[in-house]
Amino acid sequence: MQEFHYDALPGRVVFGAGVARRELRAEADRLAVDRVLLVATETEEPLARELAAPLGERVVAVFTSVRPHVPIQVAEAARALAASVRADAVLSIGGGSTTGTAKAIALTTGLPIIAVPTTYAGSEVTPVWGLTESSASGTSIGTEQSRKTTGVDHRVLPRTVVYDPELTVTLPADLSAASGLNALAHCVEAFWAPRRNPISSLAAEEGIRALAAGLPAVHADPTDLAARSDLLYGAYLAGSAFAVAGSGLHHKICHALGGAFNLPHAQTHAIVLPEVLAFNAPAAPDAARRIGRALGAGAQANAGHHEGADHTGDTDPVRALRELSAGLGIPRGLRELGLREDQIDESVELVAPAVPVDNPRRADRAALREIIHAAWAGSVPATELAARS
Ligand code: NAD
Repeated sequence: MQEFHYDALPGRVVFGAGVARRELRAEADRLAVDRVLLVATETEEPLARELAAPLGERVVAVFTSVRPHVPIQVAEAARALAASVRADAVLSIGGGSTTGTAKAIALTTGLPIIAVPTTYAGSEVTPVWGLTESSASGTSIGTEQSRKTTGVDHRVLPRTVVYDPELTVTLPADLSAASGLNALAHCVEAFWAPRRNPISSLAAEEGIRALAAGLPAVHADPTDLAARSDLLYGAYLAGSAFAVAGSGLHHKICHALGGAFNLPHAQTHAIVLPEVLAFNAPAAPDAARRIGRALGAGAQANAGHHEGADHTGDTDPVRALRELSAGLGIPRGLRELGLREDQIDESVELVAPAVPVDNPRRADRAALREIIHAAWAGSVPATELAARS
């Protein structure tokens, strides 16, 4: 018998190719807002203005000084602009940094956000905000001077999210893979994250299927709109699963490695994820089976084998994750990213205090060493082994 707690999050989702061009005005009408502050990066400003054009004079100002990780000065400038133009809503068009800037405004003003994401970050469906400041304590983002503080506040959760895969075809292949793999990690990790429940697992499993179908297809052809739709749908589900379930051991390891050794975010995620899954799988067999089933279904959909797809759960999830990453050109081991073997012990010490207490298997220092060493050494993909024999 099931027993669980589940905090469902509110929000309206509008999804489809072309919806950003067709439906933004109707969505502003639904929220009854008429003094909209448009937020976008300088690069995406022309696109954002084009999409917001049907709102006419309801767009009262445009804020373009978006920077990664939302420096506090940027947040304050955006809030000041919102106040000076008496904005009654924020329309953000862009990636996680842009959504984060809109959230910073909502955090202190309570203004509703309409979010139009153009990457697979997933921030648009979470109530999590993040701000970077120079001196206050918080979570390190990798430099001695910068400290990222994060928090949860339901005021920052966008009221409406407009997902339009047409906006993502310009996202370069490497950024698409990085952003999509991050989403995949959120889905896998949702199976053992602290607030997991049957609903978040459902979203995560479907998210893995969609991402496993979309990632290789977008890698092969970034203009493939159907594959872009799969990726964006998967990213939405990944964000939703993460928002509800939270993150676990994998993210703790990646955060520590990224912060201490400046390793690239997405590649580190892609390399560490199969090792954490391999470690947790014996104690979480249902999760492993469902992750394998979703990866198998995604791979088959990508291969165009919709008919007679085998959803029996026979796919080895660890092998499937490694093959997916290898197909995207991700290096096999952390050593290829520059991590030295003698830094593994230091990594273990950094991760050990942060290990989630309810990880399916007890991850003591010896276990952490095993996981990180395996990720450091890297595995030879099964396809390559087969080719060699
Ligand atoms: P980003 O927003 O910084 O965008 C990365 C780059 O891609 C930028 O140069 C941007 O201009 C460009 N770009 C965006 N969309 C594009 C498109 N369609 N075509 C071409 N170029 C495009 O990066 P991101 O990965 O989307 O977001 C990362 C940030 O989001 C981090 O700060 C992270 O902490 C945050 N985040 C927050 C949450 C949360 O729940 N609060 C969740 C995930 C990520």
